[in-house]
Amino acid sequence: MSVLRELIDQLQELPGIGPKSAERIGYWIVRQPAEVVRALASAIETSAQGISPCGLCGHVDETDPCRYCGDETRDPRTVCVVESSRDLEALEGTGEFHGRYHVLGGRVAPVEGVALRDLNVSGLMDRARAGEIDEVVVATNPTFEGEATAAMLGKELVKHGVRVTRIARGVPSGGEIVHMNAAVLGDALRGRGELD
Ligand SMILES: [Zn+2]
Repeated sequence: MSVLRELIDQLQELPGIGPKSAERIGYWIVRQPAEVVRALASAIETSAQGISPCGLCGHVDETDPCRYCGDETRDPRTVCVVESSRDLEALEGTGEFHGRYHVLGGRVAPVEGVALRDLNVSGLMDRARAGEIDEVVVATNPTFEGEATAAMLGKELVKHGVRVTRIARGVPSGGEIVHMNAAVLGDALRGRGELD
């Protein structure tokens, strides 16, 4: 197999990159000066070594526990549940939330065979069962799958006496958290309601 073919095959493994994009990026890479390629390769390698999911919440950060779980000034009894680290960063950008986070690493997707137990939920459930959490703010995306995830998660959490709220106001149905601005997200957090 040619070196370029191998590169294109590797690029195709990246999320959102199809065969055409992989080919375009592959040809772009081989046309770059050596220092540009070295900088790119080194950034990829460094990130793979220095960043790992937090053992408590699943957030991908440079430390474990992550900066949020390790922050004593944050309220550990209020936990905001998100689908991804990108959503966490978007919500954190609002400056509205001062509790801890929990990153599911996906959402329930029956069509793709992804159930709640396939997500990063066991640590959250353990803490809920142990009575360590007062409120869970479910901030999954307001999409069909995000709502299904919220409903299933809520059903499990209320069994342990946890107050389960859902971000609501200001978040357009079908939208994605990562694409919303800080004002809209702040509004959604302030206007959260009980999950029914
Ligand atoms: Zn963490």
